[in-house]
Amino acid sequence: MSRVDLQRTFTFRNSKQTYTGIPIIAANMDTTGTFEMAQVLSKHTLFTAIHKHYSVEDWKNFAASHPECLEHVAASSGSGSGDLEKLCAILEAVPALKYICLDVANGYSEYFVEFVKKVREKFPKHTIMAGNVVTGEMVEELILSGADIIKVGIGPGSVCTTRIKTGVGYPQLSAVIECADSAHGLKGHIISDGGCSCPGDVAKAFGAGADFVMMGGMLAGHDQCSGEVIEKNGKKYKLFYGMSSDTAMKKYTGGVAEYRASEGRTVEVPYKGDVENTIRDVLGGLRSTCTYVGAAKLKELSRRTTFIRVTQQSSYMFT
Ligand code: 5GP
Repeated sequence: MSRVDLQRTFTFRNSKQTYTGIPIIAANMDTTGTFEMAQVLSKHTLFTAIHKHYSVEDWKNFAASHPECLEHVAASSGSGSGDLEKLCAILEAVPALKYICLDVANGYSEYFVEFVKKVREKFPKHTIMAGNVVTGEMVEELILSGADIIKVGIGPGSVCTTRIKTGVGYPQLSAVIECADSAHGLKGHIISDGGCSCPGDVAKAFGAGADFVMMGGMLAGHDQCSGEVIEKNGKKYKLFYGMSSDTAMKKYTGGVAEYRASEGRTVEVPYKGDVENTIRDVLGGLRSTCTYVGAAKLKELSRRTTFIRVTQQSSYMFT
């Protein structure tokens, strides 16, 4: 067992609560942000942002049967009034729940800022994650409005088509470098959300200053994800899709609104078995990164990191 310490301890600016764990988060997508995922991830002190489509009853059952997981999960909500009502009901039903994840596709609106303020007023002691944004000013605005941890990322996701459909997006590494700086200046924190396709990307996000890294695609295709295993030509797959893909919209809202384009892809990812294997791979990679750059613990990684612009990051000779 490597001695590199991947756990971090943070005290949050607004909630004043303290967190200890390995700061990797399963995305609050309905395929990856599941109770089953939380059961495995929390054993390793990893975090799960539980998706917003579970009922209050589901939450009650989960809390009763797996109270040990509650330290490492967040309840997610959009900014609609129905979302807030449900969030309140969940937090009332599960008082041990300490984290809230306020997630909208575009965090750049006065409405969202007011929403964050409202949630902060209602829940002064909960730790609030909020996003998504990609620039320092908006990180500051959300922190000053009551959020503790800002979710950073517009356009980098594995099943995100925002850049293609709208031309909107921001290079993830640049966003993380800029947003971490702004957040840390106010004693806030950030999550790098999206764009990790291998353990090395997770290391780079931490190296750039992210306090937490959120993953969707890398955790897709496992036993702990929702959905059935599909068999095709002797190979096994699981369905993975963006939360604003046709698939998700049909499932939850009865279709894509006419005035909006779907901004998510639906893909069949090869079935990957138990997520334990992937976790081991990611944590092993991250520990080696720390060893290469001379960081005794994850906390030191960003101070030991230098980025150099390249045109190719690995050899494609045998792929
Ligand atoms: P990944 O780790 O798969 O690269 O990125 C996961 C992130 O993609 C999620 O946490 C979320 O921020 C983003 N995402 C999920 N679904 C969608 C979608 O339908 N459209 C867009 N634009 N982003 C999505």
